[in-house]
Amino acid sequence: MHNDKTGHFKKRLAEELQKLENELQTLGWQNPTTGDWEAAAGDIDSSATESDELADRQEEYGENRAEIEEIEIHWRNVKRALQKIDEGTFGVCEISGDEIEEDRLEVNPSARTCKAHMEEEGELGA
Ligand SMILES: [Zn+2]
Repeated sequence: MHNDKTGHFKKRLAEELQKLENELQTLGWQNPTTGDWEAAAGDIDSSATESDELADRQEEYGENRAEIEEIEIHWRNVKRALQKIDEGTFGVCEISGDEIEEDRLEVNPSARTCKAHMEEEGELGA
């Protein structure tokens, strides 16, 4: 892929990464050791003895956890794509090694596969 094209995707990916991190920060915090995102547990106030309130907090934690997991998958893909740009392997299907179609990258710059292997992208490991 030409450098000017890569530069275009790099800019888009960097913007997307920022946006995703902003979202993740509203839902939780990043573990500095593992780099993983953890759901905010909510401050359990020791005076909160009302079981309703505790249940609410647990529910909120569960919702944050689910939302983080979904955004985190996308966040990892964006980080991976940026790393590939640095390594010079951006735009290559991880399954077939073929070039990923440019229109596919326009829609999703963090795509890991070409169109023929889109269905299998979810099966790729972290
Ligand atoms: Zn492929």
